[in-house]
Order: sequence, then C-alpha cells, then structure tokens
Amino acid sequence: MTEPATLPEQEHDDRDWCSEPGCRVPEALLHADGDGVLWCNSHDPNPAMVEARRLGRQRGALSTAKHFRRGLREEDLGPLESPEDAKRWSSVIAKAAATGQITPAQANASTRAVHQFLHARDQHIKETELADLRADVARLKQQGRR
Ligand SMILES: [Zn+2]
Repeated sequence: MTEPATLPEQEHDDRDWCSEPGCRVPEALLHADGDGVLWCNSHDPNPAMVEARRLGRQRGALSTAKHFRRGLREEDLGPLESPEDAKRWSSVIAKAAATGQITPAQANASTRAVHQFLHARDQHIKETELADLRADVARLKQQGRR
C-alpha cells in the first residue's frame, strides 16, 4: 500500500481520525473540509451535512412509523385456541399479506406462530392420550391380578 504523495512526512506514520473527539471512523471514510480538517459523515459540522443528517433521521423515522403502523388488529384475527381458529388466522394472514396490509416479515412471523400453536396443541393431545393409555394399561393389569 502506498501513501498519497501529498501527505506531510509528519502525518505519514499516524493514522488520521475524524476531528470529533472519541470518534473512531476509519481514515478511509473521512473527508476534509475547506480547511483540510478531517470529518466523518456523522460529525461534519458543514451546515449542508447537518441538514442532510437531519433529513436522513426524519426519513428513517417516517419509514419506521410507516412500517410499524401496518399490521392486523386483534379483532381481525380473534382468539387462537382451536384448529378452526388456526384456519381462520391463516386465511386472514394470507389475505393481509397478499393485499400488502402486513409486511412479508409480519406474515412469516404470524404464520410461524399459527404453526407453533398447532404443534403445541398436537403435542398436548398426544401427551394426554399417552397418559390415558398408561392409566388404562395400569387399570387392566390391576384387573388381571384379581
Ligand atoms: Zn466522526
């Protein structure tokens, strides 16, 4: 790697940092202002850069607000306590995803939740049936000994 020929010898061995105390943005991402002072994009005091950062934050806030405003209301879905509820949820989620009412990430998360509900419900049924069968076997063994 070669240093630019214009760098004074004194600065040759030292890495340059943003002029903001404590800022550790690497040299490659810095730019010099009119006086040759180095700044990163986050700390450049140039009014145009300050305004650009303010607008960027505003745009980010609007984007976040828009992103989180979308979604389904609780009354759109109803309870999730039975396979019929899971079927209804899946239908509502599919319609909302297809029409852009919810984001793909929200649709995926909601669909996963429905699947996990169904899986947990199936697991509960199997465990209950197994407990019932064990109780039946124990009762039959008991009867067989009489
Ligand atoms: Zn900085």
